[in-house]
Amino acid sequence: MAYKIGVISGDGIGPEIVAEARKVLDTVAERYGHTFAYEEILMGGCSIDATGEPLTDEAIAAARASDAVLMGSIGGNTATSPWYRLPPDKRPEAGLLKLRKSLNLFANLRPAYLYEELKEACPLRADIIGDGFDMMIMRELTGGLYFGERRTEDVDGVLTATDTLTYNENEIRRIAKRGFDIARKRRKKVTSVDKANVLDSSRLWRKIVEEVAGDYPDVSYEHMLVDNCAMQLVKDPRQFDVILTENMFGDILSDEASMVTGSIGMLSSASLNDTKFGLYEPSGGSAPDIAGKGIANPIATILSAAMMLRYSFDLDAEADAIELAVRQVLRDGYRTVDIMPQEEEKRASVKQVGTGGMGDRICERIK
Ligand code: NAD
Repeated sequence: MAYKIGVISGDGIGPEIVAEARKVLDTVAERYGHTFAYEEILMGGCSIDATGEPLTDEAIAAARASDAVLMGSIGGNTATSPWYRLPPDKRPEAGLLKLRKSLNLFANLRPAYLYEELKEACPLRADIIGDGFDMMIMRELTGGLYFGERRTEDVDGVLTATDTLTYNENEIRRIAKRGFDIARKRRKKVTSVDKANVLDSSRLWRKIVEEVAGDYPDVSYEHMLVDNCAMQLVKDPRQFDVILTENMFGDILSDEASMVTGSIGMLSSASLNDTKFGLYEPSGGSAPDIAGKGIANPIATILSAAMMLRYSFDLDAEADAIELAVRQVLRDGYRTVDIMPQEEEKRASVKQVGTGGMGDRICERIK
């Protein structure tokens, strides 16, 4: 099969980590007989330098014309970079917000997976971790409290701020369908998280999720209140497969879930719309402190490329091959500096590699 991949290398470590993901994709293409054609798209600081805008209309058109977009990261040092002396709508991150909005990317997926080999970085007790956990947070990204009407006003001499949380049934239905679709590709369990004991928006959420669940008899589901879910994530993370939730709850829970893996730099993410299109990127930022040193960990970006194969191209076997290769390379003892063990005696049992070295090891394993 032939696919057109838009590539936003971006700023800082972005170009370094994306180069490794492309190397891995090329290896997959060769082994499985696919063709991946790449088109470089400017976004972020590099686009400001070249065009004066963080994202041009031509760049949006190029992203739209792609089957999927693979991204590194954008932005610079927020204290020292001249990009941050520009008005907010001209700064690097304005490009990303514009792209998400232009392409209607309403579903955000963030896996939280504990690697056996990196178990020591997990802050949870060994009996809680057991043989590890593997969950996916599916967060609604374009509605809810962050997009509702807001105002601050004087009410009888008292400053009063109001934010509104609105969801309509269509917004809930489309994200719920996405959540159940993803669960079908995994262990077939959805935990829908809300605050239905208090919020009307959550009661509608629950009603619509139940309707959608009726179309997925092969997927089991449960409802969980958000406060309970926050506790369960640290008490028994192994119970979760897909966590389906609204924007603000998902914002908070996805950070909590990624932290319990202990290695946030390993985590990929995807933002999807209601077609097969998706924007795939590592959870971390542009790490200006290590840019150009050849030491950035490319694994989150490589795993984002695997998500692209799975969710935009339906190439499950190819995605499995990348994920397996990453696990094998960790098992072989290769580590970038950010995931090196802290204790001296354990450091002797692993081999430190740079960005390119890690990419090469993963390609060798895929071959
Ligand atoms: P950051 O994630 O870039 O860096 C935080 C720390 O993690 C740093 O010490 C960095 O060296 C380390 N780190 C991050 N990714 C790494 C990797 N792949 N390998 C090894 N170490 C890694 O967060 P920050 O410093 O708060 O932000 C820096 C810039 O990135 C800012 O301009 C911010 O706006 C931007 N940012 C962009 C995105 C995005 O493109 N989606 C997301 C978050 C932050």
